[in-house]
Amino acid sequence: MKRIVILGGGESGAGAAVLAKKQGFDVFLSDLSEIKAEYKTLLNENEIAWEEKQHTEELILNADEVIKSPGIPDKAPLIKKLHALGTSVISEIEFAGRYTNAKMICITGSNGKTTTTMLVYHILKQAGLNVGLAGNVGQSLALQVATEHFDYYVVELSSFQLDGMNEFKADIAILLNITPDHLDRYEYNFQNYVNSKFRITQNQTADDAFIFWENDPVIKAELAKRNIQSAMYPFAIERTEKTKAFIENDELIIQTLKTLFTMPASELALQGMHNTYNSMAAGLAASIVNVRKESIRDSLQDFQGVEHRLEYVATVKNIRFINDSKATNVNSCWYALQSMKTPVVLILGGTDKGNDYSEIEELVRGKVTGLIFMGLDNKALHTFFDGKIENIKDVQSMEDAVNEAYKMASVGETVLLSPCCASFDLFKNYEDRGKQFKNCVRNL
Ligand code: ADP
Repeated sequence: MKRIVILGGGESGAGAAVLAKKQGFDVFLSDLSEIKAEYKTLLNENEIAWEEKQHTEELILNADEVIKSPGIPDKAPLIKKLHALGTSVISEIEFAGRYTNAKMICITGSNGKTTTTMLVYHILKQAGLNVGLAGNVGQSLALQVATEHFDYYVVELSSFQLDGMNEFKADIAILLNITPDHLDRYEYNFQNYVNSKFRITQNQTADDAFIFWENDPVIKAELAKRNIQSAMYPFAIERTEKTKAFIENDELIIQTLKTLFTMPASELALQGMHNTYNSMAAGLAASIVNVRKESIRDSLQDFQGVEHRLEYVATVKNIRFINDSKATNVNSCWYALQSMKTPVVLILGGTDKGNDYSEIEELVRGKVTGLIFMGLDNKALHTFFDGKIENIKDVQSMEDAVNEAYKMASVGETVLLSPCCASFDLFKNYEDRGKQFKNCVRNL
């Protein structure tokens, strides 16, 4: 019997284990950390062997194939050993893709993945399609393939998941943008990261669709080098000959072979330039699967947004508070600042992934009246911003951040949490950071 070993017992690992078991493999799951109680229960219910807080090599190196959690880097010693043995190491999505014929709509990019994924899912679901939501959001694809029968899946894919994918094909691929992120996992070589993102198009044929941002310089340069067979659906604010979704006279226009869709851009539920892109990408995907225009329009209008993404929290004494805790890199903070209509007190900082703050310098100079540096180590921030912005304060807790920002902000201004950084120094994760922010604001 073929032996499948799963490394990592989180959402994707536990789901992969259940699917592998159902497919009749000899399954073993191993996690170096503690496994959450709910996943242990799931594994036990399915009579799957597992271990936690250790990797027992005798039980792992004898695998015929390994499914690796996207959180484990290739440079981990165990992965290196498996590679040396020539063992196939794949991601949960690659594995799950083998056991379903559902149409796959897959979304990647440096920023906007979750928003766009949720938006595509919302449109398809409202239109009455039999659709599942998977990948980085919601339940793992593998668990749903094991237990559900969907016709479509909307799948959010990070570059780490794409790295473990070889045979998988997206019927519709969306690539929102590419800006430097996670370079620590790509040997500080941007091209490695770009290659990883472009795996979203691998195995596509002329019958498949590739939706992408036409004006992204990185995507543009890469397309010039590659010979991609897919039907191309570029989107941009200003149309060129090839553009399939664009803005004209304040109308969002989507033009595919099958349909011409228009709606006033002002009616989009998600405002801000970045969100217009996300709406274009989602609208294109929905048009390609033949969702009716009225239905797309209604859904683009009534979408509720996603927590921690430019989420309005409250207005206290005429100061607005916005939670953009999910802005874990500089580019997403750029879009957040760009969409602000008042002067801003910006709270930023955390675990720096090798950030280049020059990208936001102009916007900070133009719009920001004060900076709050919130992190265990604010050196990189000081090195960049000292001397450029007068009003700077260091804090090491969310409570202090919110209090200081509240003091710093004048009436009519906005306090924006858009940290440019990961959250692991002071918080459990970006959700924890955003929730703490909201609680502190509500306690003002
Ligand atoms: P991801 O899942 O890729 O991290 P999210 O949808 O969670 O993306 O959004 C993360 C942050 O990126 C948000 O705070 C938002 O301000 C910003 N953002 C959203 N869409 C885009 C986009 N298309 N381009 C640039 N930034 C974006």
